[in-house]
Amino acid sequence: MDYYGSQITKLIEQLASLPGIGGKSAQRLAFHIVNMPQEKVEQLAGAMVDAKKHICYCKECCTLTDQEICPICSNPVRDKKTIMVVESSRDLAAYEKTGKYDGVYHVLHGAISPLLGIGPGDIRLKELMHRLQGNVSEVIIATNSSLEGETTAMYISKLIKPTGIKVSRIASGVPVGGDLEYIDEVTLLRALEGRVEL
Ligand code: ZN
Repeated sequence: MDYYGSQITKLIEQLASLPGIGGKSAQRLAFHIVNMPQEKVEQLAGAMVDAKKHICYCKECCTLTDQEICPICSNPVRDKKTIMVVESSRDLAAYEKTGKYDGVYHVLHGAISPLLGIGPGDIRLKELMHRLQGNVSEVIIATNSSLEGETTAMYISKLIKPTGIKVSRIASGVPVGGDLEYIDEVTLLRALEGRVEL
């Protein structure tokens, strides 16, 4: 469907390959971009390249950041003894938006899924266990309530139990299969406050 010439078609295809962007949105975005002033387009493209170039994983919590230690881990006010385990940096952002959690995080970058062939070794679990050798009093498991999220929560709790560290799971006020980032802040807070010890 090369109605527009190969350059625009290429742009549409690139945009359409992004998550959540269908063919129609990709077309709309592509035409918006080609109508933007040259300078704005360069800023947009530059921001993408820079973000990608400078992004790395925080040495403590594994979240995506452009610093060696992310702003949360390097904040002296945060309670380092409480670690909330989340699947992605987006989930971390969702909890940060509530402004009510003052512990730190651990980002797994995925969840265990036997169906997709994702095992414990494919997510950042080793890093979590390493952190638990420090002074930690509670691990709050806030993986999604999908099958993968629950499997991961079970696996982690079994792993941590023998260490004697308190392990809790956020309450199931979070709808099953719900992606944490789409859940409103009130629900997130309720889930956090209603967490149960495993
Ligand atoms: Zn960090």
